[in-house]
Amino acid sequence: MSIRILEPAVASAIAAGEVIERPAAVVKELVENSIDAGASRVAIEIEQGGLKRIRVADDGVGIAPGDLETAFQRHATSKLRTLDDLDALRTLGFRGEALPSIAAAARVRLVSRQADGEGAAIELEAGSVLSKGPAGAPPGVTVSVEALFSALPARLKFLRSTGAETGRVRHAVENLALAYPNVAVIFSADGKTLLRTPGGGAPRDAFAAVHGAELAEAMLDLAPSPAAPFRVTGLISPPAHSRPNRAAIRLFVNGRWVQSRALSVAVEEAYAGLLMQGRYPIAVVMIEAPPHEVDANVHPNKREVRFAREGDAFSSVQRSVRESLLAAVPVVDARPFERPAAPDGALPAANPFSFTVAASPTPPPLPFGLGDGAAAPQPAPAAADAAMPRLRVLGQVSNTYIVAEGPDGMYLVDQHAAHESVLYYRLLRQWEEDEPDVQLLLEPQALEATPEQQERLTARLDNLRRYGFGIEEFGGAWLVRSVPAMGRSVDAGVLIADLLAESDASPTGGEAHRAMASSIACHSAIRAGQALDQQEMTALVQALEASPGPPHCPHGRPTAIRLTTGMLEREFGRV
Ligand code: ADP
Ligand code: MG
Repeated sequence: MSIRILEPAVASAIAAGEVIERPAAVVKELVENSIDAGASRVAIEIEQGGLKRIRVADDGVGIAPGDLETAFQRHATSKLRTLDDLDALRTLGFRGEALPSIAAAARVRLVSRQADGEGAAIELEAGSVLSKGPAGAPPGVTVSVEALFSALPARLKFLRSTGAETGRVRHAVENLALAYPNVAVIFSADGKTLLRTPGGGAPRDAFAAVHGAELAEAMLDLAPSPAAPFRVTGLISPPAHSRPNRAAIRLFVNGRWVQSRALSVAVEEAYAGLLMQGRYPIAVVMIEAPPHEVDANVHPNKREVRFAREGDAFSSVQRSVRESLLAAVPVVDARPFERPAAPDGALPAANPFSFTVAASPTPPPLPFGLGDGAAAPQPAPAAADAAMPRLRVLGQVSNTYIVAEGPDGMYLVDQHAAHESVLYYRLLRQWEEDEPDVQLLLEPQALEATPEQQERLTARLDNLRRYGFGIEEFGGAWLVRSVPAMGRSVDAGVLIADLLAESDASPTGGEAHRAMASSIACHSAIRAGQALDQQEMTALVQALEASPGPPHCPHGRPTAIRLTTGMLEREFGRV
C-alpha cells in the first residue's frame, strides 16, 4: 500500500475514538461543557447504558445561533486562543474536540438559547450537518446523542453490558457532582433517578447524595494543607468506615477528576496503622494548584495530569489526610482517650509519618511480653507531657475491658486493641532498628508451602527476619527456627501461613512491612474474653502508657475510652 492522507471522515472517526471510547466519556464531555458554561443545573438522562440515547440539558450561557455549526468543527473552542493560555487554564475543556468527536460517532441534536437571544437547533449525523435553524428552547444548551457507535461495530464490541456502561456513566456523573457541589446535578438511567444533588455548594451535601447521609455525616473534613502551592480540601472517612478496594478514593486536581496512583498511595499511606490490610478509605480529595503547576494536557481523556512538583503534591495530600485523621476523635458516648499533641502538633514520636520511638524504655520481658508488672514503676518516658497519664487499674469487665482511674476520670481499656497497639508499635520500632526480640524454638518447625507461597515467602524473607522470624531453606524444605518474642505463644506455622496468604496488593514496601506488623500484633495480642489478673492488667496498662502510638489499634478501633470526671458529675446530676 502506498502512503496516503486519510479522508477527513476516516481521520475524524479515528480521533473521535480517542476522546470518546464509551458512553461515559460522552456524558463526561457534555457535562464538562455545561460546567464550563456556568450552569447551575445539569440534567443527564441515558437509555440502555447511553447507547440508545444520552441527553444533557443545562442552564448555562448557551451558544449564539451563528456559532452552532462552528462548535462542531474540530479544534473549535471558545476557551483558549494561544498556547500560553494552556498555562492559565481555568476550564475543563480546551481542545475543541468533544462535540466533533461525538457528532462523528452518533446522531446529535443540540438546541440552545442565550439569555437575551433567539433559540436555535442543529442536527448532525456521522459528522455532517443534517439541518439547522431557529427553534424554541429554554436558556442554556440541551444536547441529545442517539445511536452512539451504531456505525462503529468495532467500538461496540469493546463495550460491556448495559448495566456496566450505566455504572460507568454514573461514576463519571458522581465525580462531576462531587467536584462541583454548587451545580445541581440530576441523573437518571432508563427512567430511574439515580442521583440528585442539591447544588447548594456544600461538598458534604453532594457527598450525601452520592454515598448516603449516614456516611456523609461520619466523614472528616480534610485539614487544609498549608504547603503552598497546593491547597488540599475534601472529605475522608474515619477509620471505622472503609472499603475493600480503592474505588471510593476520588482525586481531583483543579476541579478535574484524575487517576493517579501516586496520589492514591499518598491517601492510603496516611491511614497506615489505622486500617486493616486490604481495606481502603473513602475519600474525596480536591487539590488546587496554580494552573502552571499542572499539565492537564497529557492524556486523551484528560484523565491524568502531571505536576511540575510531584513530590510536593504527594506530601501535601499525605500530610493533610494524616493530620485530619489524627485530629479526629471517634466519639462514642464517652470520648476515646486522645493523646495530647506536643506543642508543635506532632505525635510523641518526633515525626508523625515514621513511628520511631526515641526515648521510651524497653520493658523487660514478662507476662504477655508486656514488661514486669512487679518491677518498680518505670520512669515516665522522656516526652511525659505527651504520654497517656498513669492509670490505676481497678478491675476487668466482661473479661474484655480493663477499668482504670486516671487523673481526669475513668478509663476503659480494650485489652485486645490495647495489646495489639502496643505490640504493633514495638514491632515497628524493632523493624526500624533491625533488632528484633526473637524467641528460639526448641525444635525447628517445618513449613508446608505451595510453590506460590514459597515465592511469597522468598519475597518477604527480609521483612520476616526483621520481625524476628528465623526461616531457612533446608534441603528443599523450609524450617522456622525462631519467632518474634511477643510473650503469648502463637503457632508459627499458622501465623506465617496467614502472612503469606495476604494479597500482594501492597503498593509500597513501607506499607507491606506495616501490614505484616499489624498481622503479627493481632495474632499475638491477648484475646477479648480472657480473664486477666491484677498484675497482667497493670503490665498492659503501663505498656499502653509508654507506647507512642495514636489512641487506636492498627485496625482503627480505639484502645481506650475516657469518661471524664466532668461527664460523671453531669450524668449523676452533681452539676
Ligand atoms: P471545548 O470544550 O474543548 O472548547 P467542545 O467541542 O466540547 O470543545 O465544545 C466546543 C465549544 O462549544 C466550546 O468551546 C463552547 O464554546 C461551546 N459549547 C459546547 N457546549 C456548550 C454548552 N453546554 N454551553 C455553552 N457552550 C457550549
Ligand atoms: Mg468540551
